[in-house]
Amino acid sequence: MATSSTPDFNKVLYRPLAEIDPEVKNIIDKETWRQFTGLELIASENLTSQATMEANGSILTNKYSEGLPNARYYGGNEYIDELEELCRKRALVAFNLDPAKWGVNVQPYSGSTANFAALTALIQPQDRLMGLGLPDGGHLTHGYYTQKKKMTASSIYFQSFPYAITKDSNLIDYDALSSQAKIFKPKLIICGASAYPRDWDYAKLKEITIRDGAFLMCDMAHTSGLVAAQELNSPFDHCDVVTTTTHKTLRGPRAGLIFFRKDLSNSPDLEKRVNEAVFPACQGGPHNNTIAAVATALQQVAQPEFKAYAKQVVANARALAETLIGHGYKLQTNGTDNHLVLWDLRPIGLTGSKVEKICDLMGITINKNAVSGDASAQVPGGIRLGTSALTSRDMKEADIKLVGDFLHRAVQLSLLLQKEAGTKMLKDFVRVASKQEEGKVGHQQVKQLRDEVREFAIKWPLPGVDVANLQKPDGLHEPF
Ligand SMILES: *Cc1c(COP(=O)(O)O)cnc(C)c1O
Repeated sequence: MATSSTPDFNKVLYRPLAEIDPEVKNIIDKETWRQFTGLELIASENLTSQATMEANGSILTNKYSEGLPNARYYGGNEYIDELEELCRKRALVAFNLDPAKWGVNVQPYSGSTANFAALTALIQPQDRLMGLGLPDGGHLTHGYYTQKKKMTASSIYFQSFPYAITKDSNLIDYDALSSQAKIFKPKLIICGASAYPRDWDYAKLKEITIRDGAFLMCDMAHTSGLVAAQELNSPFDHCDVVTTTTHKTLRGPRAGLIFFRKDLSNSPDLEKRVNEAVFPACQGGPHNNTIAAVATALQQVAQPEFKAYAKQVVANARALAETLIGHGYKLQTNGTDNHLVLWDLRPIGLTGSKVEKICDLMGITINKNAVSGDASAQVPGGIRLGTSALTSRDMKEADIKLVGDFLHRAVQLSLLLQKEAGTKMLKDFVRVASKQEEGKVGHQQVKQLRDEVREFAIKWPLPGVDVANLQKPDGLHEPF
């Protein structure tokens, strides 16, 4: 609290957000309302815990601690050292790793910076790397480039070459990857994906990298929670380095982790190289509030309840897949092993953008996504759906089936709207869905469905929010 002698220039330091900055407070309130009244199906998102948010919003944000525990560039780090060591220990426990064989750097600000630091540690500028192509489910940071442009640091500073999924099974084409690697001779192969509904064969990849003397890195950003819960194969059995985000299936705050092998005969100094790549090569001071939140999330991940959560995420994704297939739709690979499904909309004559748009109007948040065989990267033919967030709102298979039915109705409605629009243009489609065409059947159905989705969504709790006392904030952008 401010005291009677607090000067005017410091009074601001003691006043709550709602008083000092109603504008930002209102935006937070609106976003809270959106999360509460909608259905979150973006596969990369999740709902972190109240405890994680508490740690993330803590006073630890004040502290500079460049360096590592017991080797800092600043004083006053005795508690920060304790925190970072606890976080590292918990990261190894969460993934069941032997501290003699594995180490971890917990300072990366996010998944992308973790990946760039890992590349910096493993290979030299302009060295060659291979990653799963973006249209096939890979991530930007795995070497993505286009005809016109080197899009990310992973293709700007390194030579990259994408591998692919097969045309028929839509699974990773390990044989083609093997022959391409023979010719391209990468120093590093990256596995892991952002939109791949099946598990990985790490042993097969290891064979290739051993043959060619390359490093094998897994970026398990999407699936790390399922890996920790042993619902999926472990990349740690075969990979040299494993990176992850902490905010997807792992259900922590937004950050990244880099795990590295300590016992590599061809690279005994990997620990030093990873640590120096994170700081000073790629980052400055660690975000200690975030590291505290990561530590809290990892403590939760190590509990048996988290395993039950992860199992439910996968069961829910399977239930969603079955529901959609039951309505006659096509899913890439016909189902899922993990938390996500890729829905191919081309057989019914819709694009991912249109369905994303219509779902947005209804409060169902999804994203358009490329599907195998798309003619143009600009017009993705599918959508990606994940069950991590809805499972964190307590939903089980029967509830997810209802969500699948909403999606079915949204897609059928999209077909109707496309017809009413009379063209295939997205802007005409949006026009008929929105209130500009009040009289049309399509618009009325959009409104009806939006009301039903909201009524369903507000039955569920939202972690960290006292929803019973939640007030509808001013200034919501309601489409109708
Ligand atoms: C999400 C994701 C990232 C990037 O994470 P950010 O925290 O957004 O930087 C990296 N790799 C994969 C595979 C991802 O899915």
